[in-house]
Amino acid sequence: MKQSWRLDTLAIHTGTDLAPQDVSPPLHMANTYIFDCAEQAAQAFDLEDQPIYTRWGNPTTTVMEQKVAALEGAEAAVATSSGMAAVTAALLALVESGDHVVATTGLYSGSYHFITEDLPRYGVATTLATATDPAAFEAALQPNTRVIYLESPGNPTLMLNDIAALADLARSRGILTIIDNTFATPFNQRPLEMDIDLVVHSATKFLGGHGDAMGGAVAGSARLIERILKGPIRRMGGCISPFNAWLISRGIMTFPLRMARHNANALQIATWLDSHPSVAWIRYPWHPSHPQVDLARRQMPGGGGGVVVFELRGGLPAGVELMNRVELCARTVSLGDVRSLITHPASTTHHSVPREVRLGAGITDGLVRFAVGLEDPEDIIADLDEALTSPS
Ligand SMILES: *Cc1c(COP(=O)(O)O)cnc(C)c1O
Repeated sequence: MKQSWRLDTLAIHTGTDLAPQDVSPPLHMANTYIFDCAEQAAQAFDLEDQPIYTRWGNPTTTVMEQKVAALEGAEAAVATSSGMAAVTAALLALVESGDHVVATTGLYSGSYHFITEDLPRYGVATTLATATDPAAFEAALQPNTRVIYLESPGNPTLMLNDIAALADLARSRGILTIIDNTFATPFNQRPLEMDIDLVVHSATKFLGGHGDAMGGAVAGSARLIERILKGPIRRMGGCISPFNAWLISRGIMTFPLRMARHNANALQIATWLDSHPSVAWIRYPWHPSHPQVDLARRQMPGGGGGVVVFELRGGLPAGVELMNRVELCARTVSLGDVRSLITHPASTTHHSVPREVRLGAGITDGLVRFAVGLEDPEDIIADLDEALTSPS
């Protein structure tokens, strides 16, 4: 790996030196690795410089870890069985009973429940605060605040955290920072260059990109990644399957190309939706109507990402109608897939959440989350246009 390589080259070539005679990284589906002799076994356990047991490390998994570290500009990365395994392993490695965590609002639902329900059960107090305004966010910090947990753009509102300002604030107080970079991806946003300590990913989404492999990763300094690997990953067991690591590494090779198209398609569709008579408003980081569009272009220089949200004028019934009428777009959760995926949270994922609670989380009656795929944008637009009912 050369220092001067750019993202597209890194995505393809990082990790290939681990098996230089193979043009494509091989798949090592082995649980254990046989030692030559007792002395070599002893040395392997002392130095950990060769594979021993796949929960501890695996050659195929190492390729994925090196690719993710290269994309994020990190010293090291550790791969995990899912995005949630990455989120929980990062947090559990950094906190102990008596500590306090401040997290932004607008979190992925699994992260939200882990931080607000599970961490307190282990004696870690947590506070949620809106991170769009760093000054207001500062008021939530306490003397025992150990970690600031961010996610930007947030879910489902696509509001941003001012990452550089919050990282500065954290460093000045000796607080560690974690950010979930799943929505933005390292193509668009490089949190470690803004002094964030750890980046977490659901590789299930854009990094893998094909809707066929669950996985996750944490990237950061070699010291912190070693702590996460030797603690939560090895002892709590959230290691990735080598097969999934292989699929995700394969996905990463085309990730920069795919992401450029996700960005372009999403901006085009956001702009089209913005002028559609059935749509009350749209939200997309790079669209001029976004309240933080200047911050978005500064902090996400690569593009606005592959997710667009919009509000239907016809509210709940219009959302149900849209979901039932789309043909090309898949009615499902998730994002970052080659296929376009559409969700109307009020009638599906949040159907059983009390309306006031749902509205408090920014999930309005007509809100649609659209994960723009890599189909021809004209075909996506035609499908949406046919499915959107006219406001009568
Ligand atoms: C999907 C997702 C997760 C969880 O990832 P899994 O791979 O589903 O465990 C975490 N954060 C964000 C932002 C996500 O979109």
